[in-house]
Amino acid sequence: MKEAMFYTKLENKTVKCNLCPNECIIENNNIGICRVKKNIDGILYAISYGEISGYSLDPIEKKPIKDYKPGSYIFSIGSYGCNLKCKFCQNYEISQGNPNTLYFSPNEIVEKAKKYKESIGIAYTYNEPIVNYEFVLDCLKLAKKGNLDNVLVTNGFINEEPLKELLKYVDAVNIDLKAFNDNFYSKICSGNIEPVKKSIKIAAEMTHVELTVLLIDNLNTDKNELISMFKWIKKIDNTIPVHLSRYFPRYFMKNPPTKNSTMLEVFSIAGKYLKNVYLGNI
Ligand code: SF4
Repeated sequence: MKEAMFYTKLENKTVKCNLCPNECIIENNNIGICRVKKNIDGILYAISYGEISGYSLDPIEKKPIKDYKPGSYIFSIGSYGCNLKCKFCQNYEISQGNPNTLYFSPNEIVEKAKKYKESIGIAYTYNEPIVNYEFVLDCLKLAKKGNLDNVLVTNGFINEEPLKELLKYVDAVNIDLKAFNDNFYSKICSGNIEPVKKSIKIAAEMTHVELTVLLIDNLNTDKNELISMFKWIKKIDNTIPVHLSRYFPRYFMKNPPTKNSTMLEVFSIAGKYLKNVYLGNI
């Protein structure tokens, strides 16, 4: 457990967390939406600090990161918790559940990463690394000192100041762009799109960015909406790699898997605006 970095103390031992756009107001002895920030006597703590639910040596393409050191392997770690509540979450056991964890210090994580000789560094993935901000930032800094690469896989739902601090140490980031309308973000993910769009713009200025769009038939596959999305990405940089990923039923969402024909059609539309489009889960 470590004191959280971004919060404001309010009256009666209540605090306001400023890490992500949820900006939770948390009363004494309560936790935030992400479940990993707890107010204890008016101090906000990162209670998941160092709690690792899983690690593995993965191909970088699995993140997915396609155009940064292709063909390499990366030591990948995850914890638990998330600041969104996507009904289709592909990793809900750790993002919304309470998995078994083992404690590692940042130093132990970096040392472990170095032992994998094929690994280029550390990927912060599996659950949402933003909510484990304090631990991830400590690891990022240590990894950089040890000449390791840092890769972040995130929903991009974070406030500007903490994001900029984090990205100083990040070599490549994959950000989910879950749809191009606020209705989808609010109804299906319990979030909103504007902070994610802002994060993508900031990240594109600071590091190597790739985007993942999980396509779900009839929910985020409206052609005009997708064209608006691809045009928006093109305006930032038409070389940003975009991964179109096929949805499969998970967690609360029972809709059938996205049709292959949809995947191919969207791939073809995206290719009219963007130079690097990839299909995933197909
Ligand atoms: S990081 Fe967690 S506690 Fe903080 S605002 Fe976001 S959801 Fe709430």
